Amino acid sequence: MQINGRTKIVGVIGDPVEHSCSPPMHNAVFDELRVNYVYVPFHVKAEDLQAAIEGFKALNVAGINITIPHKQRVIPMLDQVSKEAEMIGAVNTLVFESDRIIGHNTDARGFIEAMYEVLDEKISGPAVVLGAGGAARAVVVGLVNAGFSPVTIANRTTSKAIALAEQIEKKSHATLFGIGLDDEKLPDAIADAKLLVNATSAGMDLSLPLIIDSDWLHQDLVVYDIIYTPPKTKLLMAAQNSGLQTISGLGMLVHQGAIAFELWTGISPPIETMRNALIKALEKPVVD
Ligand code: NAP
Repeated sequence: MQINGRTKIVGVIGDPVEHSCSPPMHNAVFDELRVNYVYVPFHVKAEDLQAAIEGFKALNVAGINITIPHKQRVIPMLDQVSKEAEMIGAVNTLVFESDRIIGHNTDARGFIEAMYEVLDEKISGPAVVLGAGGAARAVVVGLVNAGFSPVTIANRTTSKAIALAEQIEKKSHATLFGIGLDDEKLPDAIADAKLLVNATSAGMDLSLPLIIDSDWLHQDLVVYDIIYTPPKTKLLMAAQNSGLQTISGLGMLVHQGAIAFELWTGISPPIETMRNALIKALEKPVVD
């Protein structure tokens, strides 16, 4: 990579940001395609967010990914927010266009594109989402925009599942239900579902038990776990042992990045280059 007077800057802001695998993922493609961009991590604290955004504008930065804890807080600082980002209530990508800053959220489409990369044919119909946190919001929006309905959201904290279902139902044509993980309606919802998505962080620790009963999995079900570390969770192992089709979270991470890449450069990036760079980065975490 050769940085010169024409190099355009993109990057990611978060607090923390050191763990981010986005720099190697994007820089691998800039390198391969010889596109004159560089992707840089910026550690920005909440109280410095406004100054950072104004600074990026002044410095003619081309685009920025936004990660925790800025995804919602940044919205009032923008000139425009995409329909999807508005539905999700969070922004993960900024595009600096001459004098305007536009906010997007690439997680919902990234989630869907990664699913259809794995499945031979499109599915729709009833879906169950476990979790109601930040990632689940994008997953639910992706599902309703892709035509899934009804979508049952099951969360440990029931009130969050109900609130998310109500919010997204108002903004879509889909039917949504919010229930607790311990609700007796959950096994029936999974029995009717074509797709089960784990969007909780439960599963990152392989020593902990599954949060649902593996007997509820059935032959018509595709099981998608958006966790990417570890690459194969207990839920995916249980589904594979029953012969079901499974999807892991790595593809979502790659595709949300690929959509951001295209928004900034107008170039559709090579997905395999991004995936390989990401796998390498996840295997070898950054140490100073
Ligand atoms: P978050 O906002 O903190 O939400 C965490 C969710 O997990 C909540 O619904 C929480 O339930 C639930 N949860 C946590 N521990 C649990 C347990 N022991 N039993 C049952 N439920 C539990 O986190 P997030 O940003 O949504 O991220 C969730 C997961 O998605 C993480 O593993 C993250 O790595 C992954 N993710 C993947 C991608 C991708 O591109 N593949 C993108 C984003 C996130 P309560 O509401 O009851 O606390």
